[in-house]
Amino acid sequence: EPGAAGALVLFGITGDLARKMLLPALYRLTADGRLDLPIIGVARTDLDLDGLREHAREACGGPHDAAFDRLAGNLRLVAGDYRDPETFTRLADEVRGKGFLVHYLAVPPALFAPVAEGLAGAGLNHDARLVVEKPFGHDLGSARALNDQLLQHFDEDHLRRVDHFLGKEPVEDLLVFRFANMLLEPIWNRSYIRSIQITMAEDFDVRDRGAFYDANGTVRDVVQNHLLQLLALLAMDPPPSTDARATLDEKWRVLRAVQTIDPADVVRGQYTGYLDTDGVRPGSTTETYVALRAYIDNWRWAGVPWCIRSGKALPTTDLEVVAELRRPPVTMFSDAHAPGSPNLIRFRLQPDAGVTFDVLAKEPGKQRTRPVPVSVDFTKELGPMDAAYERIIADAVSGDPRRFARFDLVDESWRIVQPLLDLPEPPLPYDPGTWGPAPAADIAPGGWHKISTTFD
Ligand code: NAP
Repeated sequence: EPGAAGALVLFGITGDLARKMLLPALYRLTADGRLDLPIIGVARTDLDLDGLREHAREACGGPHDAAFDRLAGNLRLVAGDYRDPETFTRLADEVRGKGFLVHYLAVPPALFAPVAEGLAGAGLNHDARLVVEKPFGHDLGSARALNDQLLQHFDEDHLRRVDHFLGKEPVEDLLVFRFANMLLEPIWNRSYIRSIQITMAEDFDVRDRGAFYDANGTVRDVVQNHLLQLLALLAMDPPPSTDARATLDEKWRVLRAVQTIDPADVVRGQYTGYLDTDGVRPGSTTETYVALRAYIDNWRWAGVPWCIRSGKALPTTDLEVVAELRRPPVTMFSDAHAPGSPNLIRFRLQPDAGVTFDVLAKEPGKQRTRPVPVSVDFTKELGPMDAAYERIIADAVSGDPRRFARFDLVDESWRIVQPLLDLPEPPLPYDPGTWGPAPAADIAPGGWHKISTTFD
């Protein structure tokens, strides 16, 4: 891989993602002195270059400062349809002599392959990297078909699939916590861990994204990508070296060992009122909630249930991992074993970030040695969650693959959830503001632990 890119080509620069995430991230990277290169926006638009600069300024919150001037000075525009080869001829004129190119496709997924083909038609796939947004495929078959199409023009080393979740700092902190300490690793296995529970909850409903959500559902929207990536980071073995490939290889090895999920280990839900949302098909069976149990067939994790639940219109907006440890084999504190209080290790990822150990300690001051639950908190201030796209763009430009989804990982994760896609049975109804349909409680052995922000 060459080092730095000579230019960033941003397809879809007038789109929603560019406005909300990419342009603000480009501005912050420029302000921090981490990015200074020509940025060629490509879009079907009536705007001229000055219009695009104003559009970018608005997207960045209207700054009038030297950093924005630098960003604006780097912006170029090629307006045209992606299905028209002429657009790519003009793009080729614009980038001539600029060196290694990074093409970032913030466009609807149906256009990933046509844009790759258009680039190749103009010879813009040589000395170039292709970055595609999510989702990568709609199921295992379509993901493989899309990958084959892209591979006709770019090899795997020059492809990057965005999972912006991997740019979030608290997600990365998991790896540091696991592998920079000796504390956790000896107990992080089936001998000591009874179960792992991952909760990704949102207290809002599908809002104005009915049509998008209805075509996808919870499994496609967050489980196949974000939550299986999170599982891989939590479950993988320590990589043998610091290079990105070693981490990606370990993630693949653990996903390879995850059993394809049995629909009997799944509860799907749909909140009441969902069917009245604009864009949702009448009688839709798309799930807005899922709770499932996954099992990993390797020496570290065999038999340990990995319980994952996620949904819309739940009581809170949180992302938390709770690892439950086994009980001590014998207790000398017969009067109060504090039933219901196993040791827990909590990784809180959203909205705040931190690690908490729930342990038992002697009740202070009393004569009896009665264990009571206490929490040991390793919370620290971490980087803002919205910096995810800064890291993604910086890596897209530098070439570091570690925060992207390599295809073998994507392939395994679609394989794992494939039996859950498009199940004919209607999901179970649940009331907005509750933790999903009642049978979901039985997915986690012994029930789901309360997550930190719902403590009284
Ligand atoms: P979008 O608002 O529909 O924007 C797509 C961009 O592509 C627009 O600039 C659009 O221009 C342009 N475009 C579409 N068809 C074109 C064509 N044939 N020729 C030239 N330009 C064309 O989509 P988005 O919401 O930004 O999403 C972009 C990608 O990011 C998608 O893969 C999406 O799944 C992913 N993503 C989006 C979000 C989000 O919050 N929006 C979050 C995560 C991932 P026109 O305006 O002229 O159509």
